[in-house]
Amino acid sequence: MIEFKGKTVFDSIGIGKIKILSSHDITITPDKTDDVDAEIKSFHAAKEKAQNELTALYDKALKNGTPDEAEIFSIHKMMVDDMDLEDLVLNKLYEGYKANYALSLAKKELSAMFLAMDDEYMRARSSDVQDVCDRLINIISNVSDDYSVDEDTILMAFDITPSEIVSFDKDKLKGIVTVYGSTSSHMAIIARSMSIPSIVDTGLVLNESYENKRCIIDGFRSLVIIDPDDEVYKEYQHLLHKLKRENERRKKLIGKPNITKDGKKLDIFCNIGKSKDVMQAIENDASGIGLFRSEFLYLESKDFPSEDYQFEEYKKTLEKMNGKTVIIRTMDIGADKQAPYFNLPKEDNPALGLRSVRICFKKPEIMRTQLRALYRASKYGKLKIMVPMIISVEEVLWVKKMAEEVKTELKAEGVEYDENVEIGIMIETPAAAIISDELAKVSDFFSIGSNDLTQYTLAIDRQNQSLDNIFNPKHKALLRLIKTSVDNAHKYGKWCGICGELARNFDLTEFFVGIGIDELSVSAPYVLKLREKLLEIDSKAVNISKYI
Ligand code: PEP
Ligand code: MG
Repeated sequence: MIEFKGKTVFDSIGIGKIKILSSHDITITPDKTDDVDAEIKSFHAAKEKAQNELTALYDKALKNGTPDEAEIFSIHKMMVDDMDLEDLVLNKLYEGYKANYALSLAKKELSAMFLAMDDEYMRARSSDVQDVCDRLINIISNVSDDYSVDEDTILMAFDITPSEIVSFDKDKLKGIVTVYGSTSSHMAIIARSMSIPSIVDTGLVLNESYENKRCIIDGFRSLVIIDPDDEVYKEYQHLLHKLKRENERRKKLIGKPNITKDGKKLDIFCNIGKSKDVMQAIENDASGIGLFRSEFLYLESKDFPSEDYQFEEYKKTLEKMNGKTVIIRTMDIGADKQAPYFNLPKEDNPALGLRSVRICFKKPEIMRTQLRALYRASKYGKLKIMVPMIISVEEVLWVKKMAEEVKTELKAEGVEYDENVEIGIMIETPAAAIISDELAKVSDFFSIGSNDLTQYTLAIDRQNQSLDNIFNPKHKALLRLIKTSVDNAHKYGKWCGICGELARNFDLTEFFVGIGIDELSVSAPYVLKLREKLLEIDSKAVNISKYI
């Protein structure tokens, strides 16, 4: 029995037999040819074929109701036609090199370029570039892959690409383990959307002797067990069976209210990154969107997303939610979420630096464009606007003043909007929690960003894994700040929710109910789990003092 630790992409249990995905490395030598035209033709024919293959994968994903996947293939389609790729390859072809060699050089250069970027999201795009170039190389080299797998397979690979993952039969895949990989890569996004238990970045050495060995993935403990003892194997089979029964049971909660044992109701909302994620929120019966992280629109763009582009995204989200609340947070670029075109100065402590609304104080046009898009979209549903990283009353008033100016502009232009859009703030700095009495007077609602509130309160960088041992999400200081914020919101007739990861910490659900939290916003797979958890809680019996 061998155990490895990694990073969990989707927390569930997977049991199966190992198949090692050997990379189909083709030896490409720097061969030259006199027939440049033939190589150019072959390159362009490969691009056409790749587009057809990707269109087929895109259509299949849409038909299967997995828009996340479809989105990735539409990005790959754009990458195939990317001008940088075309230029790099053509330059080498004109030097007389063959198309597959030119592509292998372009692959190296472009993937290294992405890998060197500061932003984690952009770094993760490096594997997409490799995937696209490999597709073109395979077409040119006439290589076809074998994606057939047996029932109950755990795929083990160095890394795995989006194209590869969707080429396998989802029903037969019981898990994925990779040596490398990031939890925010497209592979991870797909694995999550397909609910495949997956662990990346294990650092294990791919050993041929593992092939066909029994394997367990324990996503709850970020653990991979190769060749488990019979006793451990049985234990996990039992656990898996229990998980399946629990999931089935939970589906019966669809359509039911979010209510405690003693009849106290609260909202369970869903966190999303783009309009396409709304489907998952609807499928899991979320009563609203509690956090639309609008910065994803900025991270995926090469330049500032236009007002019209943003408007379409917000409108689509509001329409799909069909009158249910949608809280859109104004962009939170900076710190670990960098978009190069913002040209932010290099900072020693970016988490304590120019981030989110602070950028807008320096470049108000960013906020103005976003507010215009938001107000234009507001007539298509029930929008609430939320501002992150607030530390003072003046900051809230600044945003509200700009919102009024935008409304006046739109009125003058004859554009319809909802006059009563609430403007709330995130409580994610200790400063905001401490002066939450003053902030409650000028804000329509609070949502606690526990991820940042934890890092700023405990002085623990949320990116730094080496501090995991002292990271304590139940630290009294944090829970007291949360209670203070809820109390102050209520004192001024406002509501307070939590949209950070703490909202799905079931050990704290009774505490949140006990202090009167009004809303918990979690990622889609946790909505029904939380609804179920609420049913166990008697709000009147909660002993809050035990926590703080
Ligand atoms: C938070 O800080 O808890 C939060 C929800 O915002 P983000 O994780 O996007 O910083
Ligand atoms: Mg935050």
